[in-house]
Amino acid sequence: METTTAIAPDRRRPLGRLAGLLRMGLRPLLDIGLPPLCPSCREPVRDAGGLCATCWSRLNFITRPYCERLGIPFAFDPGPGILSMQAIADPPAYARARAAVRFDDVARALVHALKYGDRLDVVPTLGRWMASAGRELLADADALVPVPLHWRRLWARRFNQSAALAHAISVAANVPVTTALKRVRATRSQVGLSKAERAHNIQGAFRVPAAARGEISGHRLVLVDDVLTSGATVDACARVLLRAGAAQVEVLVFARVVDAVRLPI
Ligand SMILES: [Zn+2]
Repeated sequence: METTTAIAPDRRRPLGRLAGLLRMGLRPLLDIGLPPLCPSCREPVRDAGGLCATCWSRLNFITRPYCERLGIPFAFDPGPGILSMQAIADPPAYARARAAVRFDDVARALVHALKYGDRLDVVPTLGRWMASAGRELLADADALVPVPLHWRRLWARRFNQSAALAHAISVAANVPVTTALKRVRATRSQVGLSKAERAHNIQGAFRVPAAARGEISGHRLVLVDDVLTSGATVDACARVLLRAGAAQVEVLVFARVVDAVRLPI
């Protein structure tokens, strides 16, 4: 299965390469005597990419009981195999979703540090947490599929955070990564849109090129993204993958927004 690097090709962006080279060159100087910083609160920590004790204790890892389909945590245990009201009333195209943590202050700070702060050192840690949360999904997965960025955004950001996370999970869980899913249309930010608007905004944004169908058809796939909000993006991706012949599509994210969950009556 084809694998790829999470870093955008620098040859398309000479200034980015120059900045990268400068940073690489200066890193040994900058690192001397400077302790690594907590990616969430920027307090000094012992290990690069690790959280300080305070932020660690404020992270909310998602554990059972949760909806077996959507992975949304239940406030109390309704018994084995019970699905949430959302999963029954509005089932997604993907089979199951799992998230490592709830999207709260610390999780948001971690995602922002990764996406906008160039803190790629947090990736191995987040990847390990995700591999642990998605253990059941990864056990029989054929490949990981990062949610792709449009090339223009990839250019601006220099790397795709979902691809970086997928590669870290790949290392932890020994499942290969495929880049057969492409984003063919740039979409505006989903922030501030209603659920219906999000679904409309993302329509037609993803495609599996005919030449890459062999990497999808008949395969059990796990989509990887950083944050799951309404699920519109991963749902659109799952539909495209299933249309391209995927045997099964599941979803693994670092953090998910958790609203009050309703149980079936
Ligand atoms: Zn901290």
